[in-house]
Amino acid sequence: MIDLRSDTVTRPTPGMREAMASAEVGDDVYGEDPTVARLEAQVAELLGKESALFVPSGTMANQIGLALHAHSGEEILAGAGAHLALYESGAAPGLWGIQLTPVPGDGRFDADALREMLRGDLFYYAKQRAVAFENTHNHSGGRVFPQEDLVDAAALARRRGLGVHLDGARLWNAAVATGLDEATLAAPADTVSVCLSKGLGAPVGSVIAFPEARRADALRLRRRLGGAMRQAGILAAAGLYALAHHRSDLCEDHRRARALAEGLAASGHRCRPQDVETNIVVFKVSMPAPEFLERAREAGVLLGAIGPQTIRAVTHRDLDDGAIEAAVGALAPLR
Ligand SMILES: *Cc1c(COP(=O)(O)O)cnc(C)c1O
Repeated sequence: MIDLRSDTVTRPTPGMREAMASAEVGDDVYGEDPTVARLEAQVAELLGKESALFVPSGTMANQIGLALHAHSGEEILAGAGAHLALYESGAAPGLWGIQLTPVPGDGRFDADALREMLRGDLFYYAKQRAVAFENTHNHSGGRVFPQEDLVDAAALARRRGLGVHLDGARLWNAAVATGLDEATLAAPADTVSVCLSKGLGAPVGSVIAFPEARRADALRLRRRLGGAMRQAGILAAAGLYALAHHRSDLCEDHRRARALAEGLAASGHRCRPQDVETNIVVFKVSMPAPEFLERAREAGVLLGAIGPQTIRAVTHRDLDDGAIEAAVGALAPLR
């Protein structure tokens, strides 16, 4: 089977397992795990933020980030199709009572689009507290959020007294695609979430970064969500290993995604290779998505659906060039 469902399906490498097995650990609820502390310090520095917390999932990282910005009955604006609105089981309204309002577009937006959504501070409106950006933007096909638009929109938000959250689950991919470093990409945001378990290939783990003054609040929120872990250095070691050894490989995922898109387009699928900026390929099919997924599975390729007739394929470090070629060949007759 060629598994293109997600970049989360990778298995830890022998080197990563070795790093996990030999990690120095302690009880992180007491703040005594040196490996977790090292990972948090390293990610905070990479993102140019003062402080960070290791958490089990990107969902938890985002939800802690949102709860640092808003309380029940308040509003956070997010690009259309945002993961934190669409794919987190209703967490923001369900757990925190936060109203999420979409900014129209494909998930990317500029200051003008944001300005249309900003309201005065009248009593009958929910109080607007923050704007959330997603880079790269998953639902639109791993598109990079144009940095100039992000900088301008974040500056507008700030002038209006709103905070800024960045869902950077795949910020590592955005950095590779743009040549800008993560700290530059994250500079406009107060809170930033990143995943270690996607393209980087760690088995578990995300990090939420924030100003040092919010660390006590973030610790409480993580505990409340059940995300305070004990000898978590075993997991953090995988993240440290991934940052050191896997980050530079992401360009291979991007090259293979482009090759996949070109192969699909050449065999007649409705796919636009020029839209492939990172490791996600989106294409339209002429049958219902579940039927296409089933036929692809029978042909040896696992894919995901993100719309009634829209398919998503994601490249990752457990695929090689041969797998991409084989996937193109297997999918070619399915039209
Ligand atoms: C995967 C992902 C997350 C977090 O997902 P988890 O499965 O909870 O780790 C958050 N945002 C984006 C854009 C993602 O792709």
